[in-house]
Amino acid sequence: MPLENHIKKMIRNNGSMSISSFMKEALYHPKWGYYQQKNPFGRTGDFITAPEISQIFGELLGVWCVSVWRQMGCPQDVALVEIGPGRGTLMKDLLRGTRHIPDFHDAIAVHMVEISQKLKAVQQENLSGAHESITWCDAFSDVPDKPILLVANELFDALPINQYVKKGGKWQERKVVVAGDGGLEFALENMVNMPETLEKEAHDRDFFEICPDSLELVGQILAVIKKNGGAALIIDYGYDYYGYKDTLQAVKNHKYSDILEGVGQSDITAHVDFVGMKKFALQNGGGVQGIFTQSDFLQGLGIEIRAAKLMQNANNLQKGGIKLAVDRLINPDKMGNLFKVMILESFKL
Ligand code: SAH
Repeated sequence: MPLENHIKKMIRNNGSMSISSFMKEALYHPKWGYYQQKNPFGRTGDFITAPEISQIFGELLGVWCVSVWRQMGCPQDVALVEIGPGRGTLMKDLLRGTRHIPDFHDAIAVHMVEISQKLKAVQQENLSGAHESITWCDAFSDVPDKPILLVANELFDALPINQYVKKGGKWQERKVVVAGDGGLEFALENMVNMPETLEKEAHDRDFFEICPDSLELVGQILAVIKKNGGAALIIDYGYDYYGYKDTLQAVKNHKYSDILEGVGQSDITAHVDFVGMKKFALQNGGGVQGIFTQSDFLQGLGIEIRAAKLMQNANNLQKGGIKLAVDRLINPDKMGNLFKVMILESFKL
């Protein structure tokens, strides 16, 4: 348990640890962090994401990219950016699905923004030969300064949050401490400095989650879009209402697990606060479309037509698989309603 010991040492040296610092260590520690250690996707991993469920997902995002590119007037030098590309499946399907539009392929240079060296290698293998210009970088700020078409699926849920709870009329921060028995546990701590965003009308015992990194990233993306044109498609599970909830969760082998146990072995995420991100984007002069449900968005892009087309050349077993996959993506009781879609754009698309 080298990562747990490392975290305990940090707490002993510096005092209680904020949840965002804990998430950063658990997910991103350069040696022992979850994304460096594991290949989390698929049946043998911890969770399955939309592009891993069906090739149609990436293909439809390709339809979206081409349609925005045309609205932009088909510019000749565009960065097609994906942040947090996992195994690279989405980009592979997107590029294959748009291959019949050579002008589009000629106009784009693909930029993959990936923090994990391990997943970068997986993506490089999966995308070999998919496009003549694909490069990797560690952060969005490394993407060249030009018009962008950006996609990010299930990235924002991985960005570290802080949690606050209202008790006896006062806000406290939920932190990670070392317990009497030597394990890790959560503890509430009175706050010296209140984050400005904490809502005054919250009720006692309400939770409030803030993800500073997500707002910073939205700000960076918007700045590029406003300057150079383009659009960004953000898809994730999250809320489109103003919520006071504890949504921090750990998942291991497709099951919920204890956040503070087996640190580095489970995926720790929180629901994405789309309302807060939208408000922030509008305040910063961005154009925003959505918040849509994944179900409405994929149906708008023609998921059923694409599925019917695929079924024409499929055997019965494959047809069953396509039906199940589409149902999983758009059924309101499965991913259809839980997953939300928000588009950032400039008014001069
Ligand atoms: N988009 C993929 C993977 C989602 S999992 C899919 O839909 O299948 C989250 C991905 O984001 C992983 O590739 C992880 O390594 C990456 N990631 C997490 N935080 C990141 C950050 N701050 N910058 C870039 N990539 C990040």
